Amino acid sequence: MTALRLDGKAVAAQLRAELAARVATLGFRPGLTVVLVGDNPASAVYVRSKDRAAREAGFGAATIRLPAETSQAALLTTIAGLNADPDVDGILIQLPLPAHIQTNAVLEAVDPAKDVDGFHPVNVGLLSEGRAVLAPCTPRGVMKLLAAAGVSLTGARALVLGRSGIVGKPVAAMLLAANATVTVAHSRTRDLAVECRRAEVLIAAVGQPEMVQGDWIGEGAAVIDVGINRLADGRLVGDCDTEACAVHAGVITPVPGGVGPMTIACLLENTLLAAVARRGHSAGSG
Ligand code: NDP
Repeated sequence: MTALRLDGKAVAAQLRAELAARVATLGFRPGLTVVLVGDNPASAVYVRSKDRAAREAGFGAATIRLPAETSQAALLTTIAGLNADPDVDGILIQLPLPAHIQTNAVLEAVDPAKDVDGFHPVNVGLLSEGRAVLAPCTPRGVMKLLAAAGVSLTGARALVLGRSGIVGKPVAAMLLAANATVTVAHSRTRDLAVECRRAEVLIAAVGQPEMVQGDWIGEGAAVIDVGINRLADGRLVGDCDTEACAVHAGVITPVPGGVGPMTIACLLENTLLAAVARRGHSAGSG
C-alpha cells in the first residue's frame, strides 16, 4: 500500500477562506493580539505569520513587542489591559517566555474567554470534560486533518506518541471525545514499536527526528506527524520516517506541509469563536 498524502496546506487554506467568509458577515473585525517578549528569532517568524494570516482573513491583528528584560509584573499588567479591552477577542502569549518569567503565572492571567491558545487551566479542564470552546490549536488541526481524510474514529484504536500539555494530552482528550480507544505513549513506554503497530490511528508528537519507523506502522493506519525537527543539514523532518511509513499507512501527513499550516488556521478559528461567544453574535454557518 502507498499512503494517501494529506495536504495540510490545502485543508488550512480552505479553512482560512471559510473563516474569512464568516468574518465578512459579522459587521466587526474579531481582534487577535499577540504578545511577544524578547527577540527569539523563531518566535518572531511565527508571530509575523500569525499577523499576516489574521489580516488576510479580515481579522484585526496587533502584536505587542516587549523587551527580553520585561518584568513578570509588567507583563501581567499588559495582560490585564488586554483582558479589559473590549476590542481584543483573542490574546496569545508567544512561547517560550524568557527564563525569569513564570510561564504558568502568565498563561493563568489571560482571561479564559480570550485564551485562543487554549492553555488556561479552565480551558484545559473544559477540554478534559469534552466541552471546550477554546481548545489548543495544533490538536484541533490534527482532528481536522483526520476528518478531511475521512478517518472514522469511533471505536478505532488510537495511539498518541507524546504527552505534552500543548499536543499529546489535548489530542488524546479530543480523540477520546470522538469515541476512539486511546493509548498515550511517552519516553517511559515499553515496546513502543508494538504499541504503534496496533494503532489504526497514530499521532506522533515527540520531537524526535524520524523516530517512527516504517515497520512500526500497521497496514492501512492513519498517521498524523506533528513533529517539526530541523536536522544539522538544514532539512526539516517530522517524527516519522515518512517514506518508509507511507509504504504501510493508508494516509499520512508530510512534514512540512501537514499539521503545521493547520495550527495558524485553527488559531484564527479560535479567535472567531472567542469573539462570537464574548460579543453574543452567531458564529454563522460552517
Ligand atoms: P515536548 O518536548 O513538550 O514533548 C515531547 C513528548 O514526547 C514527551 O511526552 C516525551 O515523553 C515524549 N518523547 C520524547 N522522546 C521520546 C521517545 N524517544 N520515545 C517516546 N516518547 C518520547 O514536545 P511538544 O509536544 O511540544 O512537541 C512535539 C513535536 O511537535 C515537536 O517536534 C514540536 O516541534 C512539534 N510541534 C509542532 C507544532 C505544529 O504546529 N505542527 C506545534 C507544537 C509542536 P516524556 O513526557 O516521558 O518526557
